[in-house]
Formats: sequence, C-alpha cells, structure tokens
Amino acid sequence: MASQSLSFPTAHITSNRLIQKLHSKVLLWPSRAHTKPSRISSSIRAMGSSASSQSQHADSIEYEAGTGTIDYKSLSDEEWKKRLTNEQFYITRQKGTERAFTGEYWNTKTAGIYHCICCDTPLFESSTKFNSRTGWPSYYQTIGNNVKSKLDLSIIFMPRQEVLCSVCDAHLGHVFDDGPPPTGKRYCINSAALKLKPRQ
Ligand SMILES: [Zn+2]
Repeated sequence: MASQSLSFPTAHITSNRLIQKLHSKVLLWPSRAHTKPSRISSSIRAMGSSASSQSQHADSIEYEAGTGTIDYKSLSDEEWKKRLTNEQFYITRQKGTERAFTGEYWNTKTAGIYHCICCDTPLFESSTKFNSRTGWPSYYQTIGNNVKSKLDLSIIFMPRQEVLCSVCDAHLGHVFDDGPPPTGKRYCINSAALKLKPRQ
C-alpha cells in the first residue's frame, strides 16, 4: 500500500509535465490528457533528441527518418532550445553567422550527405561542395527543393538571398551568384546548421 502511493504520484507528475509541454504547442484543451491520443504524446517523447529513452514506438523511427508527423514550423523557441546547442540555436533560429574558418565543416572533404541539424532533412551532397576560400562550407547545388531562398535586407545597401531549410525554416546561410559551373551558385552555409552523415 505504502509503496504504491509513493510510486504512482511520481509517474503522474512526469506525465502531466509532458502533457503541459504538449498543450503549449498543440492546441489541445488543458484538461487531463490521459484520454488524448497516445500517438501525439509519443511523438513528443521522440522529439527530445537528447533523451535516452527513444525506443518507445514506431513514432520514434519516423522521427529518425525525418518523415514523421512533427510540425517543425510550429515548434517554439523554448522547444528548439531543448533540441539544439546554444550555437546551433543562435545560427538556425536567430539567423546568426558563425565566424569564418571556425565551423566544423568549412574544410571537410568527407563523402556523404549534409543534413539539417534541426529536422534531419538532407540538404547538400558532398559531391557539390567546393573550396570557396571563404571559411564556410560552400555548395553549388541543393538536394531537390529541400532548401529555399528568400530576400534578406538586413544589411542596408546589400540585398542578399537568405537560404533556409524548406521543412523547418532553419536559417542556413546565403546564396550568391559567383559559384562554379554548372549552376553558378554558391550556397554559403554555417557548419552549425548542418550534420554530415558520411557515406557508408
Ligand atoms: Zn530543417
């Protein structure tokens, strides 16, 4: 009897905290949520990328593949802060720029695919990476339409094209028209926005 009353409330609190997080994102009514779909709460669990328990359901497998039902564009800054390092958050969610020649990938030649650090979408293929001598990883082509661009007027008299992840809107860097053939484009990207998955 005594041991039951000790253990149950703990589990209850944990589950309520999870549900509160859920309510702040997804507009469910703020009542007891045991009745709400377990599918959503298991997605939330899978979203904690640093959590050690991620083998709960098939949902976590969907997340691994980047094809899950998570609506990345609706995640709050608070949620992103939990998922990213300070630098990754500053670059991708606050449109920061890492210092040249300091990022992880500016000089990397390893074959593989560069994925979005935020949502795991494949963005650039290593075979399209070239040495731009700028100190940032540079590519002349994106993978499909996984990268989008948008006019950036944040520096007066210097309009630039910002590039973002099409899936989660992460700020990646900028694209310029002084790249090599065949595209003539130079996608100048922050290493902190990327995760290289080397070819097996
Ligand atoms: Zn993304």
